[in-house]
Amino acid sequence: MVRIPPLAARHNALRCIACIKGRPLALLNRAVPQWPPAPVQVRQKRPFSQEHVPASGSVAAAPEGELRGYFSFPAASEQKDFKPGNTVTVHGFLGKRRDKSAKLTFCDLKSPKGFDVQIVSAVDAKNAGGPASVLHKEFRNIPAYSPVAATGILQLRPGADANLAGPESQFELRLTQIQSLNDFPKDIIVSQDAVWPLSARHLQMRFDPMLRDRLHLRSKVNSTARQCLESLGFNEYETPILFKSTPEGAREFLVPTRRPGLAYALPQSPQQYKQILMASGASNYFQFARCFRDEDSRADRQPEFTQLDMEMSFATGLDVMKTVEDVIQAIFRMLQSRALPRELDGIQYTDPARIAERYGNSALHDEGSALWPIPDSNFVRIKYQRAMSDFGIDKPDLRIAGHIQRIDHLVTNNFTSMITNLETPIVEAAQFKLKGTLAENQAFIRGFMDRISNSTINIDPSCTPGVFIFDETKPLDGLSAFGHEGAGGMAMMETEYWPALEHGDLLIVHARKDVPFQGEGSTDLGRLRKAIYDAAVQEGFLDRDISQKFCWITDFPLFTPDDTPGEGQGGAAGLKATHHPFTAPLTLKDAELLRSDPLKATADHYDLVLNGVEIGGGSRRIHLADMQKYVFTHILQMPESGISRFNHLLEALRAGCPPHAGFALGWDRFIAMLCDVESVRDVITFPKNQKGEDLMVKSPSYLTKPQMETYHIAPNRWEFKDKKEV
Ligand code: ASP
Repeated sequence: MVRIPPLAARHNALRCIACIKGRPLALLNRAVPQWPPAPVQVRQKRPFSQEHVPASGSVAAAPEGELRGYFSFPAASEQKDFKPGNTVTVHGFLGKRRDKSAKLTFCDLKSPKGFDVQIVSAVDAKNAGGPASVLHKEFRNIPAYSPVAATGILQLRPGADANLAGPESQFELRLTQIQSLNDFPKDIIVSQDAVWPLSARHLQMRFDPMLRDRLHLRSKVNSTARQCLESLGFNEYETPILFKSTPEGAREFLVPTRRPGLAYALPQSPQQYKQILMASGASNYFQFARCFRDEDSRADRQPEFTQLDMEMSFATGLDVMKTVEDVIQAIFRMLQSRALPRELDGIQYTDPARIAERYGNSALHDEGSALWPIPDSNFVRIKYQRAMSDFGIDKPDLRIAGHIQRIDHLVTNNFTSMITNLETPIVEAAQFKLKGTLAENQAFIRGFMDRISNSTINIDPSCTPGVFIFDETKPLDGLSAFGHEGAGGMAMMETEYWPALEHGDLLIVHARKDVPFQGEGSTDLGRLRKAIYDAAVQEGFLDRDISQKFCWITDFPLFTPDDTPGEGQGGAAGLKATHHPFTAPLTLKDAELLRSDPLKATADHYDLVLNGVEIGGGSRRIHLADMQKYVFTHILQMPESGISRFNHLLEALRAGCPPHAGFALGWDRFIAMLCDVESVRDVITFPKNQKGEDLMVKSPSYLTKPQMETYHIAPNRWEFKDKKEV
């Protein structure tokens, strides 16, 4: 049975402003000639019982507010009809009303479909109480931010600026009919500087147009990458989300089933499926893949994230790198063609329309090309060992000028003992040409060193960085700690990557153990150098460099010593795969090293780095089942139970799987960098917080007792208390 709601609710359901169909109205007051009368329409109120009501009786039982706008509303006009003089309907959200007088009101209407207008509602005093004044009153009763269907006569705004691109700046809608589709509630207070919590992600998106712009840019970048890969002969294959637990490297999320003891695992990446696809005869695979890793919340990581995942058969790492470069160039060409400046007045825009709205069209074409240079066709390639020695990090930020320089030959034992208690360490230096005066540079570095604690940069406790400002007014240029010869040597030192020190330059000297780089991603000095660079840019001591410096890091060690049992692949050898256990050795010599000295073997593994951030990684794979089994069994020394979890892969490789190589680009991070925002959360629709919670929907949520029973989950470690949702 359908319950008929009270009269008031029925009236609200027909919020469409009442007027008499087809009957023209008297002219409006001549005092406002720029808004001549609009023929206000009255939609005949239909009895509630004639409205379309869905079968379920729940609608009638719904509270009054929910019924508004539930029923039919006028369809939005097509873009082609948006011409001055036409009567059109626009759907959108009302902005804040501007009541100029009791008889004249303006209000912006933001249309998510991109046609924003200014609504004008005006009444003539002579017609008080007539349909036009009913319309005016009803319009003014609709709360700001409500979704509406507004109909009216479109006209060019007086003094419309043809230079401004947004149509909203040019048109206004002389209102003839308006219908609230769901009144915005009074208890949600919207103000210019309201900061919405993640639990109100819908309001963040509603009221932060820049967030919506970023999500739109993401969609455009996605389609550009898709088109580019398709033009290169790639096919998009979807792979399962319900996968199986395998000791690939990262901690997985498990999905219990109704069958006792059985669980799926969510894929940490589609790595194994894409290799099986290669064995299946697919040649060029890609997928925007959702990946899941139950990692402790490291800075700005999400437990679920997106990768642009790729794999190519009969291919080497070089083929893959070339393809990735093509995709990135296509993306930058798209950005350039949209004439999108990186930044104007300190704001990172991602939508050209928003720039045009603010600055006019000219702002677009002036700077677009300069600010989105297409990266070189071959990104710089740097071997891991060289990256570690030149930049102290395997993800170098190539915007930082110069290289780290070894200066052991310039320092005395006395000096070394001041900065470290290591025996025979390597001593290295980095320099910065800061923009301040000597005193300002000094204050900057002092402040920086006071602010950072050893734990922020994670500095080896047996070493202390030596910090100097090159000061020509001081004896030995302020480097007397180096001794006479050392200071002289420092002052004279000049190479392609080490410009001679000048008055006011900052010099950082640091020691490290004299051991080969093996597995670690950075040295103390590497991390310190990057942190000083970021702080100096932040504080204006170095110019902000908005270029996009890509590089490939190659030739990583295949294996890394691992002293955390249970992590990595869970083997007994004290080793883990640096990338993942399917990575191929680089050369025949490296394949032979698998037998004699696996820690010395180099991998055919490549990481893509952009401005100091690793945005992707890939490798050529082991495509021979025997070699893969050898790695599992003899090198990683995984237990048989672990190896057997990869039987599907070994079977696929054994069946004549061709050589193959692939790559995955961390899509969230890449988009965040394109949008120049700090956090991946700013480019994800519904991100999770540091604890892995989605505060909007409040997940994860407690299991109920029946769920635990269905999925055979025993509350053995915590007491099940039929917890209420939090
Ligand atoms: N599956 C790898 C990852 O997620 C990427 C690859 O090697 O293709 O890092």
